[in-house]
Amino acid sequence: MILKKREKDFHLDGLKALVKRLPDSHPLIDTINKKIAMMTAGIRGESKLEAVFEIYSFLDEIYILHDISFYSTGNAQIDCLVISPHFALILEVKNIAGEMSFLVGTGQISRVLENGQIDHFESPMVQIDRNSDLLYDWFRLNGFLIPILGAVILPYATQKVNVHLDNYPVLFPGEIPSFIKRLKNHKSTTEAILVKDIAEKLVNEHQLFNPFPICRRWNVDVECLKKGVFCTKCSTGMMIRYLRTWVCQVCLHKDPSAHQYAIKEWFMLVGGEFTNKICRDFLNIQSKGYAWRELSKMGLIVNGQGKSTTYKMELLE
Ligand SMILES: [Zn+2]
Repeated sequence: MILKKREKDFHLDGLKALVKRLPDSHPLIDTINKKIAMMTAGIRGESKLEAVFEIYSFLDEIYILHDISFYSTGNAQIDCLVISPHFALILEVKNIAGEMSFLVGTGQISRVLENGQIDHFESPMVQIDRNSDLLYDWFRLNGFLIPILGAVILPYATQKVNVHLDNYPVLFPGEIPSFIKRLKNHKSTTEAILVKDIAEKLVNEHQLFNPFPICRRWNVDVECLKKGVFCTKCSTGMMIRYLRTWVCQVCLHKDPSAHQYAIKEWFMLVGGEFTNKICRDFLNIQSKGYAWRELSKMGLIVNGQGKSTTYKMELLE
């Protein structure tokens, strides 16, 4: 049973908004584009794992928690946690292109790309060890004892790995159901009802990661951001207001609500209290009345009245 689904990646949305609004010569553009590519590949990998659990049902009481973050003796973040009466299984997804090698005794993996480029990453084995210790502490704090196991998941069967280490198996998504079935042969240690309680408690303690405001997180000067309403279709063209709608100057797409996403981007990137003046400045518009009308339609949190009215937006929804 899937007890917790993966949430929308707010950090990725924020970085996409940021990279679009950075000046073309900004020194962070390459770094942020690489981060976006890495996060997108990570999400694609985790979706492969989600798909396995969506189509496969287990006879036993098995609870699946995708992308769970909690605090015990430190912060833990687990790609997928499987809790059963027999064991807890930590699944760490590694979506790395190229040929991977686990480097014995270094806590690292290396990968070689087709062009010969070599990069090093933290080994998923180290990540599982760390999360396993934190989960063990959380179980202990909650009076729960169960064996904790781990496995590294490579989302694509085309990924090539040179060395398999003994401490955790390396699996492709299609292998997971039968792997879990084999694990069920472990002796039962816990009442099924208690397992459900403990899995639900963990979901209740899940800490949603708040990456906003993005400019502060990435140390970007808000003054350098490009202003205006970007096209909601091609993302690159700027839109202008024309006959009660917004029109893209590049692809001619029309969207009467395009300004709403630009306002959301301001909250993601800059954050704090929004005013009619900030709105006109950020959207490159003149009309106070238009800004006022549109802001009052957006369901924002409103404080004060008249000229001192300020607006806030709830972003983690
Ligand atoms: Zn466009």
